[in-house]
Amino acid sequence: MGQTIRTTKLLLDLGERTRGAANTRKRAYLEETAKILDAARAFYVAFLLAHPEKPTERVTSVSDRGQQERERLISANELLTWAEFQTVETKEHPHPLPDWNFSERFPDMPFPYRRSVIKDAIGKARSYLSNLANWRASSKKKGQPGPPGASNHPTLYKGAFALELDEADLRQTFARLKVYTGTTWEWHHYPVKQSRYFEARRTDPAWEQQSPKLILRENSAALHFSQVKVVQAKTVKESKQDPHLVTVAVDLNIKNLAVITVRQDGNITKTLFVRDHGLDQHRYQHMKRIRKKQWLSGKAVKGEHSNRQLWQHVRRMNAAAADKTSRTIAEVCEQYPGCVLLFERLRKIKRGEASKSRRLSRKQANQVRGQINARSREKAFAAGTVTVEVNPHGTSQYCSRCGARGERFSYRGAVRIKARWGKLFWCPDCHYEANADFNASVNVHRSFYQEGHWQRREKPPPKKKRSG
Ligand SMILES: [Zn+2]
Repeated sequence: MGQTIRTTKLLLDLGERTRGAANTRKRAYLEETAKILDAARAFYVAFLLAHPEKPTERVTSVSDRGQQERERLISANELLTWAEFQTVETKEHPHPLPDWNFSERFPDMPFPYRRSVIKDAIGKARSYLSNLANWRASSKKKGQPGPPGASNHPTLYKGAFALELDEADLRQTFARLKVYTGTTWEWHHYPVKQSRYFEARRTDPAWEQQSPKLILRENSAALHFSQVKVVQAKTVKESKQDPHLVTVAVDLNIKNLAVITVRQDGNITKTLFVRDHGLDQHRYQHMKRIRKKQWLSGKAVKGEHSNRQLWQHVRRMNAAAADKTSRTIAEVCEQYPGCVLLFERLRKIKRGEASKSRRLSRKQANQVRGQINARSREKAFAAGTVTVEVNPHGTSQYCSRCGARGERFSYRGAVRIKARWGKLFWCPDCHYEANADFNASVNVHRSFYQEGHWQRREKPPPKKKRSG
Protein backbone atom coordinates (compact mmCIF):
# COMPACT_ATOMS: atom_id res chain seq x y z
CA MET A 1 0.00 0.00 0.00
CA GLY A 2 1.18 3.43 -0.80
CA GLN A 3 0.07 6.55 -2.44
CA THR A 4 1.11 8.55 -5.42
CA ILE A 5 0.62 12.17 -6.40
CA ARG A 6 0.30 13.77 -9.79
CA THR A 7 -0.14 17.36 -10.88
CA THR A 8 -2.34 18.64 -13.66
CA LYS A 9 -1.67 22.17 -14.83
CA LEU A 10 -4.19 24.68 -16.11
CA LEU A 11 -2.62 27.73 -17.72
CA LEU A 12 -4.28 31.09 -17.25
CA ASP A 13 -4.38 33.01 -20.49
CA LEU A 14 -2.45 36.20 -19.87
CA GLY A 15 -1.55 36.79 -23.48
CA GLU A 16 -2.74 39.70 -25.53
CA ARG A 17 -6.06 41.25 -24.71
CA THR A 18 -7.11 41.31 -28.35
CA ARG A 19 -7.01 37.53 -28.42
CA GLY A 20 -9.41 37.18 -25.56
CA ALA A 21 -6.82 36.95 -22.80
CA ALA A 22 -6.90 38.70 -19.46
CA ASN A 23 -5.69 42.27 -19.36
CA THR A 24 -2.51 43.39 -17.66
CA ARG A 25 -4.42 44.76 -14.69
CA LYS A 26 -5.65 41.30 -13.88
CA ARG A 27 -2.12 39.99 -13.98
CA ALA A 28 -1.17 42.68 -11.44
CA TYR A 29 -4.02 41.52 -9.17
CA LEU A 30 -2.51 38.05 -9.03
CA GLU A 31 0.80 39.51 -7.95
CA GLU A 32 -0.88 41.65 -5.32
CA THR A 33 -2.71 38.61 -4.02
CA ALA A 34 0.48 36.57 -3.73
CA LYS A 35 2.16 39.49 -1.99
CA ILE A 36 -0.51 40.05 0.62
CA LEU A 37 -0.75 36.31 1.30
CA ASP A 38 3.01 36.20 1.86
CA ALA A 39 2.64 39.04 4.36
CA ALA A 40 -0.23 37.26 6.11
CA ARG A 41 1.79 34.05 6.24
CA ALA A 42 4.73 35.95 7.72
CA PHE A 43 2.34 37.29 10.37
CA TYR A 44 1.26 33.81 11.42
CA VAL A 45 4.77 32.33 11.29
CA ALA A 46 5.89 35.12 13.64
CA PHE A 47 2.82 34.61 15.80
CA LEU A 48 3.44 30.86 16.17
CA LEU A 49 7.14 31.35 16.88
CA ALA A 50 6.23 33.89 19.54
CA HIS A 51 4.24 31.10 21.21
CA PRO A 52 6.60 28.16 20.60
CA GLU A 53 5.05 26.03 23.31
CA LYS A 54 1.73 25.82 21.46
CA PRO A 55 2.63 24.04 18.19
CA THR A 56 4.39 21.30 20.20
CA GLU A 57 1.77 21.05 22.94
CA ARG A 58 0.68 17.59 24.06
CA VAL A 59 -3.02 17.26 24.64
CA THR A 60 -4.97 14.44 26.22
CA SER A 61 -7.97 13.10 24.44
CA VAL A 62 -10.48 10.45 25.38
CA SER A 63 -11.05 7.79 22.78
CA ASP A 64 -14.70 6.95 22.11
CA ARG A 65 -14.50 3.24 22.70
CA GLY A 66 -12.13 2.52 25.53
CA GLN A 67 -12.78 5.62 27.63
CA GLN A 68 -9.04 5.73 28.00
CA GLU A 69 -7.12 8.94 28.10
CA ARG A 70 -4.35 9.19 25.58
CA GLU A 71 -1.72 11.84 25.10
CA ARG A 72 -0.98 13.10 21.61
CA LEU A 73 0.40 16.09 19.73
CA ILE A 74 -2.06 18.92 19.17
CA SER A 75 -3.59 18.57 15.70
CA ALA A 76 -3.23 21.14 12.94
CA ASN A 77 -6.96 21.84 13.02
CA GLU A 78 -6.94 22.47 16.75
CA LEU A 79 -3.98 24.79 16.30
CA LEU A 80 -5.81 26.62 13.54
CA THR A 81 -8.86 27.16 15.72
CA TRP A 82 -6.65 28.37 18.55
CA ALA A 83 -4.71 30.75 16.27
CA GLU A 84 -7.93 32.20 14.86
CA PHE A 85 -9.33 32.67 18.33
CA GLN A 86 -6.25 34.62 19.43
CA THR A 87 -5.94 36.85 16.37
CA VAL A 88 -9.30 37.33 14.67
CA GLU A 89 -12.07 39.71 15.73
CA THR A 90 -15.55 38.20 15.86
CA LYS A 91 -18.81 39.23 17.42
CA GLU A 92 -18.45 36.71 20.21
CA HIS A 93 -14.81 37.51 20.69
CA PRO A 94 -14.27 41.20 19.93
CA HIS A 95 -10.81 41.62 21.44
CA PRO A 96 -7.99 39.48 20.08
CA LEU A 97 -4.47 39.78 21.47
CA PRO A 98 -3.55 43.46 21.06
CA ASP A 99 -0.15 42.80 19.48
CA TRP A 100 -1.52 40.13 17.17
CA ASN A 101 -4.70 41.61 15.76
CA PHE A 102 -4.94 40.02 12.33
CA SER A 103 -8.30 41.58 11.49
CA GLU A 104 -6.81 45.02 11.94
CA ARG A 105 -3.68 44.33 9.92
CA PHE A 106 -5.40 42.50 7.07
CA PRO A 107 -8.97 43.77 6.93
CA ASP A 108 -11.52 41.81 4.91
CA MET A 109 -9.21 38.98 3.97
CA PRO A 110 -11.51 36.13 2.84
CA PHE A 111 -11.45 33.34 5.39
CA PRO A 112 -10.42 30.57 2.95
CA TYR A 113 -7.23 32.53 2.32
CA ARG A 114 -6.74 33.17 6.02
CA ARG A 115 -7.09 29.47 6.76
CA SER A 116 -4.71 28.51 3.97
CA VAL A 117 -1.97 30.83 5.26
CA ILE A 118 -2.45 29.65 8.85
CA LYS A 119 -2.10 26.05 7.70
CA ASP A 120 1.04 26.92 5.73
CA ALA A 121 2.43 28.79 8.72
CA ILE A 122 1.73 25.85 11.04
CA GLY A 123 3.70 23.54 8.74
CA LYS A 124 6.60 25.96 8.51
CA ALA A 125 6.72 26.76 12.22
CA ARG A 126 6.48 23.11 13.25
CA SER A 127 9.24 21.93 10.97
CA TYR A 128 11.47 24.80 12.13
CA LEU A 129 10.82 24.07 15.80
CA SER A 130 11.54 20.38 15.42
CA ASN A 131 14.72 21.07 13.43
CA LEU A 132 15.79 23.48 16.14
CA ALA A 133 15.11 20.95 18.88
CA ASN A 134 17.10 18.31 17.00
CA TRP A 135 19.97 20.72 16.51
CA ARG A 136 20.02 21.62 20.21
CA ALA A 137 20.02 17.97 21.16
CA SER A 138 22.85 17.17 18.77
CA SER A 139 25.34 19.50 20.56
CA LYS A 140 26.73 20.68 17.24
CA LYS A 141 27.81 24.28 17.07
CA LYS A 142 27.46 24.82 13.37
CA GLY A 143 24.36 24.52 11.22
CA GLN A 144 21.76 26.16 13.41
CA PRO A 145 18.54 26.04 11.39
CA GLY A 146 17.51 29.45 10.10
CA PRO A 147 14.06 30.83 10.78
CA PRO A 148 11.42 29.81 8.25
CA GLY A 149 10.61 31.98 5.27
CA ALA A 150 7.06 33.01 4.56
CA SER A 151 6.70 32.85 0.81
CA ASN A 152 4.73 30.07 -0.78
CA HIS A 153 2.42 29.56 -3.71
CA PRO A 154 -1.12 30.56 -2.70
CA THR A 155 -3.43 27.63 -2.11
CA LEU A 156 -6.95 28.17 -3.39
CA TYR A 157 -9.53 26.63 -1.13
CA LYS A 158 -13.21 26.47 -1.87
CA GLY A 159 -14.67 29.92 -1.51
CA ALA A 160 -11.71 31.66 -3.08
CA PHE A 161 -11.84 29.99 -6.43
CA ALA A 162 -14.21 28.30 -8.86
CA LEU A 163 -13.90 26.82 -12.31
CA GLU A 164 -16.38 27.63 -15.01
CA LEU A 165 -15.55 25.24 -17.75
CA ASP A 166 -17.63 24.91 -20.85
CA GLU A 167 -16.23 22.29 -23.13
CA ALA A 168 -18.48 23.22 -26.00
CA ASP A 169 -17.40 26.82 -26.09
CA LEU A 170 -13.78 27.45 -25.22
CA ARG A 171 -14.36 31.19 -25.07
CA GLN A 172 -16.57 30.54 -22.08
CA THR A 173 -13.99 28.76 -19.95
CA PHE A 174 -12.87 30.72 -16.95
CA ALA A 175 -11.34 30.36 -13.57
CA ARG A 176 -13.04 32.64 -11.09
CA LEU A 177 -10.61 33.83 -8.45
CA LYS A 178 -10.94 36.04 -5.46
CA VAL A 179 -8.01 38.41 -5.81
CA TYR A 180 -6.58 41.43 -4.03
CA THR A 181 -6.54 44.57 -6.15
CA GLY A 182 -4.25 46.45 -3.79
CA THR A 183 -7.14 47.93 -1.83
CA THR A 184 -10.02 45.46 -1.85
CA TRP A 185 -10.81 41.80 -2.41
CA GLU A 186 -12.80 41.12 -5.56
CA TRP A 187 -13.90 38.25 -7.74
CA HIS A 188 -12.42 38.27 -11.22
CA HIS A 189 -12.67 36.01 -14.22
CA TYR A 190 -9.48 34.67 -15.76
CA PRO A 191 -9.64 33.01 -19.16
CA VAL A 192 -7.89 29.64 -19.19
CA LYS A 193 -6.14 27.57 -21.82
CA GLN A 194 -8.13 24.43 -21.34
CA SER A 195 -7.86 21.18 -23.22
CA ARG A 196 -10.00 18.08 -23.17
CA TYR A 197 -7.06 16.17 -21.66
CA PHE A 198 -7.16 18.49 -18.71
CA GLU A 199 -10.83 17.78 -18.11
CA ALA A 200 -10.36 14.04 -18.48
CA ARG A 201 -7.53 14.03 -15.96
CA ARG A 202 -9.21 16.36 -13.52
CA THR A 203 -12.44 14.40 -13.35
CA ASP A 204 -10.82 10.95 -13.25
CA PRO A 205 -12.63 9.24 -10.34
CA ALA A 206 -9.58 7.13 -9.41
CA TRP A 207 -7.74 10.24 -8.26
CA GLU A 208 -8.72 12.31 -5.28
CA GLN A 209 -8.53 15.98 -5.94
CA GLN A 210 -6.80 18.49 -3.69
CA SER A 211 -7.04 22.26 -3.62
CA PRO A 212 -5.14 23.88 -6.48
CA LYS A 213 -2.18 26.19 -6.08
CA LEU A 214 -1.60 29.40 -7.99
CA ILE A 215 1.84 29.35 -9.56
CA LEU A 216 3.03 32.74 -10.75
CA ARG A 217 6.06 32.90 -12.99
CA GLU A 218 7.72 35.72 -14.85
CA ASN A 219 5.81 35.14 -18.06
CA SER A 220 2.97 32.85 -17.09
CA ALA A 221 0.44 32.01 -14.47
CA ALA A 222 -1.10 28.61 -13.88
CA LEU A 223 -3.25 26.64 -11.51
CA HIS A 224 -1.66 23.39 -10.38
CA PHE A 225 -4.14 20.71 -9.35
CA SER A 226 -2.67 17.98 -7.18
CA GLN A 227 -4.35 14.63 -7.22
CA VAL A 228 -3.70 11.75 -4.88
CA LYS A 229 -4.31 8.09 -5.51
CA VAL A 230 -4.01 5.24 -3.07
CA VAL A 231 -2.15 2.38 -4.66
CA GLN A 232 -2.51 -1.26 -3.71
CA ALA A 233 0.68 -2.95 -4.76
CA LYS A 234 2.21 -6.23 -3.69
CA THR A 235 5.70 -6.15 -2.33
CA VAL A 236 8.43 -7.67 -4.47
CA LYS A 237 8.86 -10.42 -1.91
CA GLU A 238 5.18 -11.38 -2.25
CA SER A 239 5.38 -11.21 -6.03
CA LYS A 240 8.39 -13.51 -6.09
CA GLN A 241 6.26 -16.26 -4.52
CA ASP A 242 4.20 -16.41 -7.70
CA PRO A 243 5.66 -19.20 -9.88
CA HIS A 244 4.19 -17.61 -13.03
CA LEU A 245 5.34 -14.11 -12.23
CA VAL A 246 5.61 -11.80 -15.23
CA THR A 247 8.65 -9.54 -15.34
CA VAL A 248 9.01 -6.56 -17.65
CA ALA A 249 12.64 -5.60 -18.19
CA VAL A 250 13.90 -2.39 -19.73
CA ASP A 251 17.33 -1.71 -21.14
CA LEU A 252 17.89 2.01 -21.63
CA ASN A 253 20.20 3.13 -24.35
CA ILE A 254 20.81 5.95 -26.77
CA LYS A 255 19.62 5.04 -30.25
CA ASN A 256 17.26 2.45 -28.85
CA LEU A 257 15.85 4.61 -26.08
CA ALA A 258 14.39 1.51 -24.49
CA VAL A 259 14.26 -2.18 -25.28
CA ILE A 260 11.36 -3.70 -23.37
CA THR A 261 11.14 -7.46 -22.94
CA VAL A 262 8.46 -9.41 -21.12
CA ARG A 263 9.27 -12.76 -19.53
CA GLN A 264 7.04 -15.41 -18.04
CA ASP A 265 7.89 -19.00 -17.06
CA GLY A 266 11.42 -18.54 -18.37
CA ASN A 267 10.38 -17.45 -21.86
CA ILE A 268 10.47 -14.07 -23.51
CA THR A 269 6.88 -13.50 -24.61
CA LYS A 270 7.09 -9.98 -25.96
CA THR A 271 9.73 -7.56 -27.20
CA LEU A 272 9.37 -3.88 -27.95
CA PHE A 273 11.98 -1.49 -29.31
CA VAL A 274 11.47 2.21 -28.62
CA ARG A 275 13.78 4.02 -31.00
CA ASP A 276 14.85 7.63 -30.64
CA HIS A 277 13.76 8.59 -34.17
CA GLY A 278 16.92 10.57 -34.78
CA LEU A 279 16.84 12.44 -31.46
CA ASP A 280 20.51 11.76 -30.75
CA GLN A 281 21.61 12.96 -34.16
CA HIS A 282 19.34 16.00 -34.03
CA ARG A 283 20.57 16.94 -30.59
CA TYR A 284 24.15 16.46 -31.65
CA GLN A 285 23.68 19.00 -34.45
CA HIS A 286 22.37 21.53 -31.96
CA MET A 287 25.25 20.86 -29.59
CA LYS A 288 27.66 21.49 -32.45
CA ARG A 289 25.98 24.83 -33.06
CA ILE A 290 26.02 25.78 -29.38
CA ARG A 291 29.65 24.74 -29.13
CA LYS A 292 30.55 26.86 -32.12
CA LYS A 293 28.71 29.90 -30.81
CA GLN A 294 30.38 29.55 -27.45
CA TRP A 295 33.76 29.35 -29.16
CA LEU A 296 33.06 32.42 -31.30
CA SER A 297 31.85 34.55 -28.43
CA GLY A 298 34.75 33.62 -26.22
CA LYS A 299 34.43 33.25 -22.50
CA ALA A 300 30.93 32.84 -21.15
CA VAL A 301 29.51 35.74 -19.17
CA LYS A 302 28.88 34.75 -15.59
CA GLY A 303 25.24 34.65 -14.58
CA GLU A 304 24.07 34.92 -18.15
CA HIS A 305 22.70 31.92 -19.91
CA SER A 306 23.73 31.80 -23.54
CA ASN A 307 21.75 30.15 -26.33
CA ARG A 308 18.62 30.19 -24.24
CA GLN A 309 16.14 29.27 -26.92
CA LEU A 310 18.28 26.53 -28.32
CA TRP A 311 18.73 24.97 -24.90
CA GLN A 312 15.03 25.22 -24.23
CA HIS A 313 14.31 23.48 -27.50
CA VAL A 314 16.74 20.68 -26.65
CA ARG A 315 15.33 20.33 -23.15
CA ARG A 316 11.82 20.07 -24.51
CA MET A 317 12.83 17.46 -27.04
CA ASN A 318 14.47 15.42 -24.31
CA ALA A 319 11.47 15.72 -22.02
CA ALA A 320 9.08 14.74 -24.80
CA ALA A 321 11.14 11.66 -25.64
CA ALA A 322 11.31 10.67 -21.97
CA ASP A 323 7.58 11.14 -21.55
CA LYS A 324 6.65 9.13 -24.59
CA THR A 325 9.01 6.29 -23.76
CA SER A 326 7.87 6.04 -20.16
CA ARG A 327 4.26 6.04 -21.33
CA THR A 328 5.03 3.05 -23.57
CA ILE A 329 6.75 1.23 -20.71
CA ALA A 330 3.82 1.88 -18.36
CA GLU A 331 1.38 0.67 -21.00
CA VAL A 332 3.23 -2.61 -21.37
CA CYS A 333 3.10 -3.05 -17.58
CA GLU A 334 -0.63 -2.38 -17.54
CA GLN A 335 -1.17 -5.37 -19.82
CA TYR A 336 0.26 -7.68 -17.15
CA PRO A 337 -1.42 -6.98 -13.80
CA GLY A 338 0.78 -8.00 -10.92
CA CYS A 339 3.99 -7.85 -12.94
CA VAL A 340 7.28 -6.44 -11.72
CA LEU A 341 9.11 -3.75 -13.68
CA LEU A 342 12.88 -4.19 -13.88
CA PHE A 343 15.52 -1.58 -14.56
CA GLU A 344 19.24 -1.71 -14.33
CA ARG A 345 20.77 0.49 -11.70
CA LEU A 346 21.78 3.39 -13.86
CA ARG A 347 25.37 3.55 -14.87
CA LYS A 348 26.78 6.29 -16.98
CA ILE A 349 27.39 5.62 -20.62
CA LYS A 350 30.97 6.72 -20.92
CA ARG A 351 31.62 9.76 -23.01
CA GLY A 352 35.11 8.65 -23.91
CA GLU A 353 37.43 10.55 -26.20
CA ALA A 354 34.73 12.06 -28.39
CA SER A 355 34.48 15.70 -29.46
CA LYS A 356 33.11 18.30 -27.08
CA SER A 357 29.76 18.42 -28.91
CA ARG A 358 29.50 14.66 -28.83
CA ARG A 359 30.28 14.67 -25.12
CA LEU A 360 27.65 17.34 -24.49
CA SER A 361 25.12 15.25 -26.36
CA ARG A 362 26.06 12.10 -24.43
CA LYS A 363 25.59 13.92 -21.16
CA GLN A 364 22.06 14.75 -22.22
CA ALA A 365 21.41 11.20 -23.31
CA ASN A 366 22.30 10.13 -19.78
CA GLN A 367 19.86 12.64 -18.38
CA VAL A 368 17.11 11.36 -20.66
CA ARG A 369 17.73 7.83 -19.38
CA GLY A 370 17.37 9.09 -15.85
CA GLN A 371 14.12 10.82 -16.74
CA ILE A 372 12.70 7.72 -18.43
CA ASN A 373 13.56 5.66 -15.39
CA ALA A 374 11.95 8.07 -12.94
CA ARG A 375 8.81 8.70 -15.00
CA SER A 376 8.16 5.05 -15.84
CA ARG A 377 8.51 4.20 -12.18
CA GLU A 378 5.88 6.80 -11.26
CA LYS A 379 3.47 5.89 -14.02
CA ALA A 380 3.77 2.17 -13.44
CA PHE A 381 3.30 2.57 -9.69
CA ALA A 382 0.11 4.56 -10.21
CA ALA A 383 -1.22 1.43 -11.90
CA GLY A 384 0.02 -0.84 -9.10
CA THR A 385 3.32 -2.06 -10.53
CA VAL A 386 6.44 -1.93 -8.41
CA THR A 387 9.88 -1.34 -9.84
CA VAL A 388 13.07 -3.16 -8.97
CA GLU A 389 16.57 -2.05 -9.85
CA VAL A 390 18.84 -4.94 -10.59
CA ASN A 391 22.58 -5.37 -10.62
CA PRO A 392 23.72 -4.08 -14.01
CA HIS A 393 27.07 -5.83 -14.01
CA GLY A 394 27.81 -7.45 -17.34
CA THR A 395 24.31 -7.28 -18.81
CA SER A 396 25.73 -6.25 -22.17
CA GLN A 397 28.69 -8.64 -22.14
CA TYR A 398 27.23 -12.01 -21.32
CA CYS A 399 25.18 -14.31 -23.54
CA SER A 400 21.53 -14.28 -22.58
CA ARG A 401 21.10 -17.83 -23.86
CA CYS A 402 23.97 -19.81 -22.37
CA GLY A 403 25.57 -17.32 -20.02
CA ALA A 404 29.07 -17.34 -21.57
CA ARG A 405 31.01 -14.14 -22.09
CA GLY A 406 30.49 -12.90 -25.62
CA GLU A 407 31.57 -10.06 -27.84
CA ARG A 408 30.04 -7.01 -29.50
CA PHE A 409 30.44 -6.45 -33.21
CA SER A 410 28.99 -4.63 -36.17
CA TYR A 411 28.92 -5.01 -39.90
CA ARG A 412 30.45 -2.39 -42.11
CA GLY A 413 29.40 -3.41 -45.57
CA ALA A 414 30.09 -7.11 -45.46
CA VAL A 415 33.01 -6.81 -43.08
CA ARG A 416 32.52 -7.95 -39.53
CA ILE A 417 34.13 -5.54 -37.08
CA LYS A 418 34.61 -6.48 -33.48
CA ALA A 419 34.12 -3.39 -31.33
CA ARG A 420 32.71 -2.42 -27.97
CA TRP A 421 30.19 -0.09 -29.60
CA GLY A 422 28.95 -2.88 -31.88
CA LYS A 423 25.20 -3.09 -32.44
CA LEU A 424 25.21 -6.86 -32.39
CA PHE A 425 26.15 -9.50 -29.89
CA TRP A 426 27.81 -12.82 -30.61
CA CYS A 427 28.42 -15.72 -28.29
CA PRO A 428 31.50 -17.82 -29.10
CA ASP A 429 30.17 -20.70 -27.01
CA CYS A 430 26.72 -21.35 -28.43
CA HIS A 431 27.05 -19.14 -31.53
CA TYR A 432 24.02 -17.10 -30.56
CA GLU A 433 23.75 -13.83 -32.46
CA ALA A 434 21.38 -11.04 -31.47
CA ASN A 435 20.83 -7.32 -31.22
CA ALA A 436 23.09 -6.19 -28.39
CA ASP A 437 20.45 -4.09 -26.64
CA PHE A 438 17.93 -6.94 -26.83
CA ASN A 439 20.51 -9.28 -25.35
CA ALA A 440 21.09 -6.81 -22.51
CA SER A 441 17.36 -6.48 -21.88
CA VAL A 442 16.97 -10.25 -21.56
CA ASN A 443 19.91 -10.29 -19.17
CA VAL A 444 18.10 -7.83 -16.91
CA HIS A 445 15.56 -10.60 -16.21
CA ARG A 446 18.41 -13.02 -15.53
CA SER A 447 19.97 -10.58 -13.11
CA PHE A 448 16.62 -10.32 -11.28
CA TYR A 449 16.24 -14.09 -11.03
CA GLN A 450 19.92 -14.44 -10.19
CA GLU A 451 20.71 -16.84 -13.00
CA GLY A 452 24.01 -17.54 -14.72
CA HIS A 453 26.52 -14.78 -14.24
CA TRP A 454 24.27 -13.21 -11.57
CA GLN A 455 24.00 -16.35 -9.46
CA ARG A 456 24.54 -15.77 -5.83
CA ARG A 457 27.99 -17.10 -5.19
CA GLU A 458 28.62 -18.87 -2.00
CA LYS A 459 31.25 -17.27 0.10
CA PRO A 460 34.45 -19.27 0.11
CA PRO A 461 34.81 -21.13 3.40
CA PRO A 462 36.94 -19.26 5.88
CA LYS A 463 40.53 -20.36 5.77
CA LYS A 464 41.52 -22.29 8.81
CA LYS A 465 44.91 -21.85 10.23
CA ARG A 466 46.70 -25.12 10.03
CA SER A 467 48.37 -26.14 13.12
CA GLY A 468 51.31 -28.40 12.64
ZN1 LIG B 1 25.81 -18.37 -25.66
